[in-house]
Amino acid sequence: MELEAYLRRAIGQQEFHLVYQPIVDSHTNQIAGLECLIRWHQPQLGYISPADFIPIAEETGLIHEIGEWVLMEACRQNMIWQNAGLPKLPVAVNLSSRQFKDSRLSRKVQSILEETGLPPQYLELEITESMSMDVKTASDALNELKKLGFKVAMDDFGTGYSSLGYLKDFPIDKMKIDQAFIKGLKQSPVNAAIVHTMIAMAHKLNLLVVAEGVETEEELQVLKEYGCQLVQGYYFSPPANAEKIGEILHKYALTITP
Ligand code: C2E
Ligand code: MG
Ligand code: MG
Ligand code: MG
Repeated sequence: MELEAYLRRAIGQQEFHLVYQPIVDSHTNQIAGLECLIRWHQPQLGYISPADFIPIAEETGLIHEIGEWVLMEACRQNMIWQNAGLPKLPVAVNLSSRQFKDSRLSRKVQSILEETGLPPQYLELEITESMSMDVKTASDALNELKKLGFKVAMDDFGTGYSSLGYLKDFPIDKMKIDQAFIKGLKQSPVNAAIVHTMIAMAHKLNLLVVAEGVETEEELQVLKEYGCQLVQGYYFSPPANAEKIGEILHKYALTITP
C-alpha cells in the first residue's frame, strides 16, 4: 500500500526514466536494436526494481498511465537519436498484460507515433507469455498492432505455462529465450539441449531468436554454434541511460561508415 501511494505520485514528480540495452547481432557484433527498461528512483525509498513495482502498477491500473509514458518516452528518444544522424534502430518496449487487454491500445500507440513522428518499423512490442487472456482476444489485439506495422516479440520464452500454445496461436515475429536457460549453458547439458531445441524450433517457425541474459564469452560461443542470431546481456552491455547509448551509437556509426 505504501508503494502504491508512492507510485501514484511518481509520474507527476518525474521520478521515472528509461534505460536502454543493446540487442546485438551475434555474428557481426553490431547493434541490431535496443530494449527500453523503466527505472524508478523513489526519493525516500531509493531504487525500486520494475520486477517489484510493475505488478503493483498492474493491480492498481496505474500501468496504463505508466505504460503510455514509457511508449511516448521511448519513441521520443528514438526520434532524437535518429534526428542526430545516428544509426536507425528499433526500440523494443515491454507491454504488460493489462495494457494489452485495453481495446484502445493500438489507437494509443498510433497516436504516439503520430505525435513523435517515429515510423512504425522502429517500435517493437514485447509481450510475455504469462499473460492470462483468451486466445481470440489476444490474437485479435496482436493482429491489429501488426497491421499498423509493429514487430512483436514473445518475451521470457519458456518460463510461462503455455509457451507452445502461444506460439501456435499468436502471430509473433521474435522469440526471446528467457535468461534462466542461458545461465550455465556450457555446464548444464539440460539447459543446452533446451536452448538448442528452442532455437531450432524458432527457425522452423520463421521467427527471429534473441537470447537474453548473455553474460559470458562461453555462452555467446554456444549460442552462435546453435545459430542464435541475436543476443542481449551484460556481456555486451548493461542497460544504460540515453546519453550513454547515444555515445555508443555514435562510435558504432563511425565504424560502419564506409
Ligand atoms: P525483461 O523484459 O525480460 O527484461 C530483461 C531484464 O534482464 C532486465 O531487468 C535487464 O536489466 C536484465 N538483464 C539484462 N541483461 C542481463 C544479464 O546479462 N544478466 C542478468 N542477470 N540480467 C540481465 P529489469 O530492467 O530489472 O526488468 C525486469 C522486468 O521488468 C523486465 O524483464 C520486464 O518484464 C519488466 N519491465 C521493465 N521495464 C518495463 C516497462 O517499461 N514496462 C513493463 N510493462 N514492464 C517492464
Ligand atoms: Mg523484455
Ligand atoms: Mg525477458
Ligand atoms: Mg522478464
